[in-house]
Amino acid sequence: MVKRGVVVAISVTLFALAGCRKEAPKPVVTAPITPERPMVDAAAVRANELGRIPVVMYHDVNDKVGKNTKMNRTKASFEKDLQLLHDKGFYPVTLRSVVDGTMDVPAGKSPVVITFDDARESQLRLIEASESYTVDSESAYGIIEKFCKANTDWKPVATFFVLPKSEKTLEPFGQVGLGSDKIKYLMSKGCEIGNHSLRHKSFGRMTPRELQDELSGAQKAVKAYVSDVEMTSLANPYGVYPRNRADWKYLAKGTGTGGSYTHTAVCQAAWRPMLSPVAKGFNPVRIERITPEDLKFGLAYWVGELTSGRMSRFVSDGDASVVSYPSSEASGADKAAITALGKKPNAYGGSGGAGGKRILGAGDNSDAASEKGTPASAPTESKPITGAGG
Ligand SMILES: [Zn+2]
Repeated sequence: MVKRGVVVAISVTLFALAGCRKEAPKPVVTAPITPERPMVDAAAVRANELGRIPVVMYHDVNDKVGKNTKMNRTKASFEKDLQLLHDKGFYPVTLRSVVDGTMDVPAGKSPVVITFDDARESQLRLIEASESYTVDSESAYGIIEKFCKANTDWKPVATFFVLPKSEKTLEPFGQVGLGSDKIKYLMSKGCEIGNHSLRHKSFGRMTPRELQDELSGAQKAVKAYVSDVEMTSLANPYGVYPRNRADWKYLAKGTGTGGSYTHTAVCQAAWRPMLSPVAKGFNPVRIERITPEDLKFGLAYWVGELTSGRMSRFVSDGDASVVSYPSSEASGADKAAITALGKKPNAYGGSGGAGGKRILGAGDNSDAASEKGTPASAPTESKPITGAGG
């Protein structure tokens, strides 16, 4: 392997302006010598970026119900879930970053997408003080912030499938008058805001027109709270799909009374960990999620399947510009999808592999490194919100 990009020298010649025959001085611009990036050893971390990724679906996180149900998780159980994921080497990312290939997961770690449906108050509650608001450390996002303060190798990142104000919902995240501030706050922390429809009605029997009005209407209604919100992920209410399969295309793209929309990820309710977006068979309109339940096919069960090796687990090579996997798994790679994401395949080990070690040039991966989940322009809050993590 050849080392690249260590020193780049560019000679720039400036020619004399019209009317002057003398040449101007020739400045030589030399790029600074950047230290080499550390070598990525895909084999050493047993990277497999074709493996499955758990996308966990939460609704309420509180102790009001007093126990865990399909829709409710106690605070203690939610904390336990975060601890389990952390201890088993998972790392939180947004769903959007999974499908657009910008997720930035440290080498050897596995992505997990923590999702919340319905924009319920227990997910993000604010406590008002005289000059500011504080995130309630007992609400789900407050618990995440506290957890990330204690575990600094994690980021407080999640995907929220919100319901806007409608005849069904008073305000996103419950507290009237604070929906806009809450959405902005989550965006400023790198969280993703996703579409969960306008009125939370089943898509099963909707006509294409109704479906497009429902989805575009939700986009418009959430943008009324935060104009620069980008909703590219969708979770179908109740996980229900239009009966007519030909209408599924309207989940991904359409135009209705609320304007035009594009969703690059569409989620079902719950079943099993999702396929890697660069694995053969991945369908962005039918992304699988899991529930946090302490039952078979709940979070702990799937974590067990993924970490025991019974199910293929996505393990990052730490380099967003390449997709690494053991050459023994190469037949499962969707090469076209890898190329479409602007990445290069890196099969390692065995006769077909390029070897575990790759030397990265100094200029490699600069774009990917700058593209985290955080929006380019972090929105401002009308009243400052202090996170529960301090
Ligand atoms: Zn819902």
